[in-house]
Amino acid sequence: MKTIGLLGGMSWESTVLYYELLNKEIAGQLGGFHSAKIWMYNVDFAELEENMSQGNWAGNAAILSDAAQRLESAGADFIVIATNTMHKLVPEIEKHIRIPILHIADAAADRVRKDGIRRVGFLGTRFTMTQDFVIGRLKAAGLEVFVPDESDIKRVDDIIFRELCLGKVRDASREEYQRIISYMKDRGAEGVILGCTEIGMLVGEKDSPVPVYDTTVIHAQAAARRAIEG
Ligand code: GLU
Repeated sequence: MKTIGLLGGMSWESTVLYYELLNKEIAGQLGGFHSAKIWMYNVDFAELEENMSQGNWAGNAAILSDAAQRLESAGADFIVIATNTMHKLVPEIEKHIRIPILHIADAAADRVRKDGIRRVGFLGTRFTMTQDFVIGRLKAAGLEVFVPDESDIKRVDDIIFRELCLGKVRDASREEYQRIISYMKDRGAEGVILGCTEIGMLVGEKDSPVPVYDTTVIHAQAAARRAIEG
């Protein structure tokens, strides 16, 4: 079995989910006492959040490249970055390591396409919803992707950073997400990608009139498969 290099802490609330999903998936596939081989580097999210707020992406690239190098030196066979937003820095991080990064957008695109779905709504942080580093890759894989209106982009992002990344899960925020998902369905979404690793804490299948694609679950399952199958 390959060893997973898990780059986590962004936020730790969702890294816990990755840890559990990776182990459950490998136990489910291999049975018995099997569990995942993981090296994990958990960053201090306060440093990264401050850098993001100040537009200091170079600062975050330095932190994550250093972390990825350490995971490689420790013996990780590939890297899993447990957040959509930091995939913005994949090209930078890749310059510092020789092992591959399992991209969250590739895992998501594969899953959505397997279900025969083409047109999807996308929810994530303001960075992920308004830039191309995840959505561009989904589009390149043949999906038609759209995001909420500007005011709802702000609403979705506020709930991620002011609540979910701090472990707060509120009914009023769930209702907001349900409203936005319904609106996206009315605009023709055949499915919704939860393109932020904390959103699954708030909404799931039962909150949506269309199929939900949780990038945390999909990414972790893809990583477990890669660890087993190589
Ligand atoms: N975990 C979130 C994501 O998937 C947001 C936190 C971050 O900025 O990394 O995008």
